[in-house]
Amino acid sequence: MSDLHPISKAIRIQTPRTQQHEHSTPLYLTSSFTFDEAESMRAAFADESDDNIYSRFSNPNVDEFITKMCMLEGVDDGFATSTGMSAVFSSMLALLQQGDHLLCCSSVFGSTFTVVTKYLPRYGITCTLVPANDEAAWEAAVQPNTKMVYLETPTNPQLEVIDLAWAGAFSKKHNLILNVDNCFATPLLQKPAEYGADIIVHSATKWIDGQGRVMGGIIIGRADLVKEIYLFCRNTGPSLAPFNAWVLSKSLETLDVRLQRHCENALKIAETLQDHPQVAWVKYPFLPSHPQYEIAKKQMTSGGGILCFEIKGGLEAGRKFLDALDMLSVTANLGDSRSIASHPASTTHSKLTDKQRAAVGITPGLIRISAGLEKVEDIIADITQALEKSAV
Ligand SMILES: *Cc1c(COP(=O)(O)O)cnc(C)c1O
Repeated sequence: MSDLHPISKAIRIQTPRTQQHEHSTPLYLTSSFTFDEAESMRAAFADESDDNIYSRFSNPNVDEFITKMCMLEGVDDGFATSTGMSAVFSSMLALLQQGDHLLCCSSVFGSTFTVVTKYLPRYGITCTLVPANDEAAWEAAVQPNTKMVYLETPTNPQLEVIDLAWAGAFSKKHNLILNVDNCFATPLLQKPAEYGADIIVHSATKWIDGQGRVMGGIIIGRADLVKEIYLFCRNTGPSLAPFNAWVLSKSLETLDVRLQRHCENALKIAETLQDHPQVAWVKYPFLPSHPQYEIAKKQMTSGGGILCFEIKGGLEAGRKFLDALDMLSVTANLGDSRSIASHPASTTHSKLTDKQRAAVGITPGLIRISAGLEKVEDIIADITQALEKSAV
């Protein structure tokens, strides 16, 4: 087993078979686990054995998912959570305390932004938001009490790419914990630990599930930090449900083949839209016109399944575009086998003023496309006909 390629291991790692000799891992829908003797129960509680005690702490289905994710990311240990946001929140709360300071990239997932700007300050953890690629601003923002750097790359939805080699060196120089949200790339396209990330978080709801079925998240990384996170989570309860873990572990068997098609489709859509008269600009990490194209090529094996573009005609054209789509889904998810379109200015970011939206990089006609697994000709045909109907 140890000689296998990681892609094969993601398919072959499996919970030891029971006396039923099942081929696929069974579902361990159990809240707790039994002990034959008081002594073995005592030892489990004393951390002298790895025996499962209670599914808030550990569960075979959840452990199988964690084992695969640690192997793929090339890290020691992890804890799987109910959602991506419980992973983000727990990774911060478990490692930071009152008086600590966090450096966070200014373009991060919306709920992450709310956590670091609204909730963490309530507990005396302050945060400075720093623009993605302004290295001088990151240097200037370091304080004596700074403890963690948090970023995602590529960012959602603007697809900014941050140089992980730079982020790793910067964090090391200032002795900071580097915490990277690797949701958009997945470990198959990018491995932050190779650049010095100490903690990696994921929303498994997206590409890892890949079919829009279950919520899930995971925190993985350096064993000493994960130990703290494990104790925090074991006591506060954001654990992943065994059923969802079973689905997510199965999905890791197909992640490689799915991502190949997602990335291929996204690149073709991006290339086609570049020349469309209704489109002002297209952004995709593996298009040479992307501002951080060189960095993306260096740290990612493929450009990912998400692209975005600016439709001419702003807010009104964006709304018309969503209404004119026949096949693409209009929904708040991404990373699905079905292609999805979204228009942040009229939905997720509609409560902000134009100026506030501009500050977080949301232009009025920004459309985000999550490229699905349909035939790319069908996806392009739908986007093209909707563009024609959305001229204002
Ligand atoms: C969706 C998402 C999250 C949050 O994940 P949930 O599973 O929805 O809680 C965090 N980070 C990024 C980049 C995401 O896209």
